[in-house]
Amino acid sequence: MKRIIAFGMIYHESNTFTPAYTEEKDFVVLKDKDIFDIKDCKDDNFGEIKGMLEFFYHKRNYKIVPTICVRALPYGIVKKETYQKLKKELLTRLLNINGLSAVFLSLHGSMYVEGIGDGEGDLLSAIKKILPKNALIVCTLDIHATLTRKMVKNVNALIAYKTAPHTDVVDTGVDAGKLLYKALENSLIPKVSYSSIPMLISGEQSETRVEPMKSLINCLRVAEQNSWVLSASYCLGFPWADHSENGVSSIVVATTNHGKKGKILAKELADSFWQKRRQFDFTTEAFTPKESIKRAIEGVKKNEYPIFISDSGDNPTAGSPEDNTNLLRLVDQMNLPALINDRPVLAVIYDPEAVCHCVDSVKKDRELHLGGKIDNIYSKPYKIKGKVEKVINKGSIVYVLLRSPKIDVIISSQRVGITHLGIFKDIGIDPIKRKIFIVKSGYLMDNLRNAASRTMLSLTNGCTDLMLKRLPYQRLKRPVFPIDEF
Ligand SMILES: [Zn+2]
Repeated sequence: MKRIIAFGMIYHESNTFTPAYTEEKDFVVLKDKDIFDIKDCKDDNFGEIKGMLEFFYHKRNYKIVPTICVRALPYGIVKKETYQKLKKELLTRLLNINGLSAVFLSLHGSMYVEGIGDGEGDLLSAIKKILPKNALIVCTLDIHATLTRKMVKNVNALIAYKTAPHTDVVDTGVDAGKLLYKALENSLIPKVSYSSIPMLISGEQSETRVEPMKSLINCLRVAEQNSWVLSASYCLGFPWADHSENGVSSIVVATTNHGKKGKILAKELADSFWQKRRQFDFTTEAFTPKESIKRAIEGVKKNEYPIFISDSGDNPTAGSPEDNTNLLRLVDQMNLPALINDRPVLAVIYDPEAVCHCVDSVKKDRELHLGGKIDNIYSKPYKIKGKVEKVINKGSIVYVLLRSPKIDVIISSQRVGITHLGIFKDIGIDPIKRKIFIVKSGYLMDNLRNAASRTMLSLTNGCTDLMLKRLPYQRLKRPVFPIDEF
């Protein structure tokens, strides 16, 4: 008889400082058989599921049953009714599957739900309640997951990415598939042990290609050499969530009866992290907003261009609204064309209202009150005049290139992470010829990094402020490093 594994995904990274909710319309939803198309997807948006499907594809003794796969770009707290609807859909499908041996779930691990808080903990405890007694629950997590007691209590295995930027998403799905297969084939009951340290860290200070993360990830690989260890991970937490259990954690998944050793190993891994806490620093040059523009101008004068400046306080890939106007205001008032003989390019300001105002006005002048409509805490709308140079449609998103005398601004009808150069080329901007790009981002993805002569972080105020001390935490347990002294 075939073993039956159900699989699904509810994936969101929720920024509690963003003054907007994540709602149903923000989620991409795949259901039932459509989910199998993920296996042949070119992008890795559902990468963990893709990896798991690849692994089980030739395992004839297994029947893999889809439920729902949903994900949304990081944004504000998830609306309670949206979460409850998704949870109900997943639970209903699970209840309709007879004879389940296991559930494979892909979760981010930092979903925060209105009125509930720990989304993954709530979801996993509800799943555990309805499953057959011996059915296993195996989950993949983002390395930026916020591990909670409730999550650990209700699963048999948690396995997180080992890379940031995330280049092992599919591999993590394969590894979790292997772990689940090994457990089922050998009648193992995996046991999760974890250890947490009071530490907050941003992704921009913990890229895995550089130290100290490089050595710490190696510690995980060494730990996984033990025959009784099924997997070892670090979850770094998500600093832009005001969550009582936020922090860095280690996870060890051990085979049956090795829980005690797992606990000791998890503590050792957490201790190694804590000992290196003072070694973490920005892995890209980082300056105050004014200083970042000044350095970029100096760089251009030395022929170091294109220079990519990340407006890091308004990073949509970490849940910011993408309509903060502070850096736009600063640059527009500095008259860069007079200093570098080129207009800087800003990508993007999310403003559907402004897009509507421009969409039928190609080659016409427009005056806009741009951005500052969602992030009205740290910024406000900025009045700017310019010519609508080009309007393009990319899928469901409309982009407008507004050319003002001192800056080119790309405005979008939806929030979007700028992860490659395609948008610049499509809208008629040659990334090689232009000198300064300002992108709404934190650390840059390889596509942009490789195209840049130099990259820097502008430490702007906003919902993804990298200067964590400036954020108004209320629920976060204190003291915590590096906000408090240790
Ligand atoms: Zn992440």
